[in-house]
Amino acid sequence: MSKDYSPPIFEGERFHCPFPGCGAFAQMMWSRPSTEACIAECASCGGKSIWRRYVVASGLNFLTKGTLLYPTATLAPPHHPDLPEKIKPDYEEARMISAQSPRAAAALLRLCVQKLCNHLLKKEGDINTQIGELVKLGLPVKIQRALDSVRVIGNESVHPGTMDLNDTPELTIVLFRLVNLIVQNCITDPNEADDIFNSLPANKLLGIEARDNKS
Ligand SMILES: [Zn+2]
Repeated sequence: MSKDYSPPIFEGERFHCPFPGCGAFAQMMWSRPSTEACIAECASCGGKSIWRRYVVASGLNFLTKGTLLYPTATLAPPHHPDLPEKIKPDYEEARMISAQSPRAAAALLRLCVQKLCNHLLKKEGDINTQIGELVKLGLPVKIQRALDSVRVIGNESVHPGTMDLNDTPELTIVLFRLVNLIVQNCITDPNEADDIFNSLPANKLLGIEARDNKS
């Protein structure tokens, strides 16, 4: 579900509705009540999102752009359905504030990653050490990089003045996606493999056990 999330984009024909309680991938009907305002009406819930329209110079051309003004909180993708219950409040809080303070959202996502590591290792510990332990247990490089990216970018003391997330809110949105990617790989995929394996016929399971005992 999170994989297929299409964030609201200016003048987009279809995207995931930004209204909490809707969130449907729906057709949007655009209208322009003034030169500076646009409205997109969701065909699914009828909610009207409000956009600021502006023009920027690009070389010799002018480009029309737009940013979502209302509702703002849900530009970030929804949490992965398998995100552990106890981590959901932090993720949701990060979502609520991501438009107003990308830096605060990134710090909360770092906390989500910390808690995810604790959840996966079933113990508490320093986030950096925990990621190292997960790598030793066979964590794929792609996921280790996702964990480290959220860990470093969410830690403000690491990059004072070098990386201002408030100037690059898109980067914060990427961090939300990375957290969902981690949940998919570390929780959803292993659970699915277990479910399929456990549904194999009993005699096949015994055969597999016998083979593994031999080697
Ligand atoms: Zn809607």
